[in-house]
Amino acid sequence: MNEKNKDVRVRFAPSPTGYLHVGSARTAFFNWLYAAKTGGKFILRIEDTDIARHQEETINLISESLKWLGLNWDEGPEASGKYGPYRQSLRTDIYREYTLRLIQEKKAYYCFCSPEELKEKRENKIKEGKIYKYNRKCLKLTPEDIQDNIESGKPYAIRFLVPENKTINFKDTVYGDITVNTASIEDFIIIRSNGLPTYNYSVAIDDALMKITHVIRGEDHLSNTPKQILIYNAFNFNFPDFTHLPMILGQDGQKLSKRHGSISIEKYIEEGFVKEAILNYLALLGWSYDEKTTIFSTSELIKKFELSSINKKPSKFDYNKLLWINGYYIRNMDNSRLKQLLEKQIRNYLASKNIIDLENGVKQLEQKIEKIIPLIKERIKTLKESIDLISPFFIKISYSDESKTYFKNKKVNAPDILNRVYKALNEVSGKFHAKDIEKNLRLISERLNLSFRKIAEVIRIAIWNSTISPPLFETIEILGKELTLKRINEYIGIIS
Ligand code: GLU
Repeated sequence: MNEKNKDVRVRFAPSPTGYLHVGSARTAFFNWLYAAKTGGKFILRIEDTDIARHQEETINLISESLKWLGLNWDEGPEASGKYGPYRQSLRTDIYREYTLRLIQEKKAYYCFCSPEELKEKRENKIKEGKIYKYNRKCLKLTPEDIQDNIESGKPYAIRFLVPENKTINFKDTVYGDITVNTASIEDFIIIRSNGLPTYNYSVAIDDALMKITHVIRGEDHLSNTPKQILIYNAFNFNFPDFTHLPMILGQDGQKLSKRHGSISIEKYIEEGFVKEAILNYLALLGWSYDEKTTIFSTSELIKKFELSSINKKPSKFDYNKLLWINGYYIRNMDNSRLKQLLEKQIRNYLASKNIIDLENGVKQLEQKIEKIIPLIKERIKTLKESIDLISPFFIKISYSDESKTYFKNKKVNAPDILNRVYKALNEVSGKFHAKDIEKNLRLISERLNLSFRKIAEVIRIAIWNSTISPPLFETIEILGKELTLKRINEYIGIIS
């Protein structure tokens, strides 16, 4: 175990098999937080030796998501550091050297059993209702047998010789004292027949060589820890402190997975979540400060986060809570940052829709957005939701069938109202200001003795193609006289 004041070194060690999903992002964040809190180092290590599941392009996706979240690493790919390389596929010479040592010390041995042979034995045991464990057939081979087999090109794996009847003890920060007897562990493979190490082997060597002081990772690895401790012991390595994070479940109580909808950080970015909200929400998955506080800025988390306040109880992923937190951060964001984020969102939207028919052009967006922000800030929970509220300010609207027929069977005389609205707006003199717009429009309501709500409905459909719009007078002001009148005219044409 570590001395308390030892410099903290933690790592996030993803296997590049897909996007960075919520569970892994939480692991990365808890490691990052702990490093930030203790002034320690946060290391990124890519565990890419499982070629069956490897997807090269996901290394980039994972690191981009980490960077987007602001979880920058002190050592790792793109950052260097004195314990590299930080990609396991570039560390095979290191594993080989350590494996030879184990073989010489008779702590590991060659195994020439074929996968077919092992599979058959396993299946037979299972049929008999027994637990399968490798029978150590190859442990009995003489040095000559081994030499002959190797020379004749027989494929082999290397197995770790698990010491018999030993008790493995370790204390997990979250799960407490764990005791396992080696009788339940078979001589597991440490080097596969393709020459690459298995997870439990390379992870232990790397954590030791990279001087990792605290291993913080998902609960699914708790059962791997005894095997890793055997490797630490075989090399006389000190072992780190272990903290296993509780499982994350979907609302149905099943382990969170793709079935539960978007779970990759990339998807959340696309959906218009902001990083402060995601980090805040991730922190609540398994950690709590006082059971009731929900909002924590990253700097508060750095102060308040403690490994000892992580609880074992699986946490349920609650999309609506995340959404609420996101809305909170948007409402409280300063307008200049929100402006940047919204502009980016709208530009991406325009690019994806290939919209070239911009009524007022992207320039208009830039000029108008500052005025639009206060109107929509309280109404959106994601940046993406802003698209419907912002784009009609400068993209030509095309009336839906519903809008075209909206007043067909209604009592209001929409063309008459709109003609009056046209005139009233046209008469607004000087600056086209919301206050004057309001004054002129309310007069119509008085003259017709009709509630303003009814009139507003007609105007909204005409200028917004919807019964819902941001506050009406401000919306008209921002649209501008010319564009508002143009839309009113167009809509009158449609319904007359
Ligand atoms: N590569 C492992 C994974 O992605 C890392 C587990 C660990 O942190 O030890 O699950």
